[in-house]
Amino acid sequence: MNKELFIKELEKLKITPTDLQLEQLEKYYEILVSENKKYNLTAITTKEEVYLKHFYDSLTIIKIIDLTDQSLCDIGTGAGFPGIVLKIFYPTLSITLVDSTLKKCNFLNYVIKELKLNNIKVLNKRAEEFAKETREEYDIVTSRAVAPLKHLLEYSIPLLKVDGTYIAMKSDISKEIENISNYEHKLSIKQEKIIKFNLPIEKSLRTLISYQKLKPTNIIYPRKYNEIKKKDI
Ligand code: SAH
Repeated sequence: MNKELFIKELEKLKITPTDLQLEQLEKYYEILVSENKKYNLTAITTKEEVYLKHFYDSLTIIKIIDLTDQSLCDIGTGAGFPGIVLKIFYPTLSITLVDSTLKKCNFLNYVIKELKLNNIKVLNKRAEEFAKETREEYDIVTSRAVAPLKHLLEYSIPLLKVDGTYIAMKSDISKEIENISNYEHKLSIKQEKIIKFNLPIEKSLRTLISYQKLKPTNIIYPRKYNEIKKKDI
């Protein structure tokens, strides 16, 4: 999507980008493409695609939640999606970016420095380990295209405050929400909203699903990665 269309589509989301935000995105794009030549960060590299499939797509989270002065944790943020884009557009958010790959974390710290972003930190950790030591901390936890929904719930819900919201950003999730009721029960969560839409231009399917945390999470969750993978909760 070219920049004109990007701005037009953001208007539909009730976002009017400032000059600073547009400059920051441009710089982010340049850093992404130049660092991507050194090591693999993303398969999407043309400007039109990055603006559509990374920048615009990251912002679609606001279809499902209001982002005010909250704390947000982005699990498996990769090259910063949606976390860095959300920080640019919602500077008062307090953001933690988590990724298990060191080179991606180094890239994120470089972007944060170059874009002069504040109140955002990067943790090079596996989510399962992070969620063992950090409990009931965030208002919002999210992840885009990281793992099966069940796995995401098991290591994201412990991070949330009671009443906080978990949001998964995915494509098709119809299979993933079959047999999820045991997870809802054991993790004390309630499915809140589910929103399906198509991306502009290429029309691929996107699904946003949100869960509300009802009670503190039992300390036995998350289990170790091998167990999470091997056996349902
Ligand atoms: N959210 C980004 C990246 C998706 S790729 C985007 O939408 O573009 C998935 C990323 O999650 C990778 O960078 C990988 O290193 C990270 N990841 C996968 N499992 C993880 C886990 N259990 N804990 C932390 N990071 C994880």
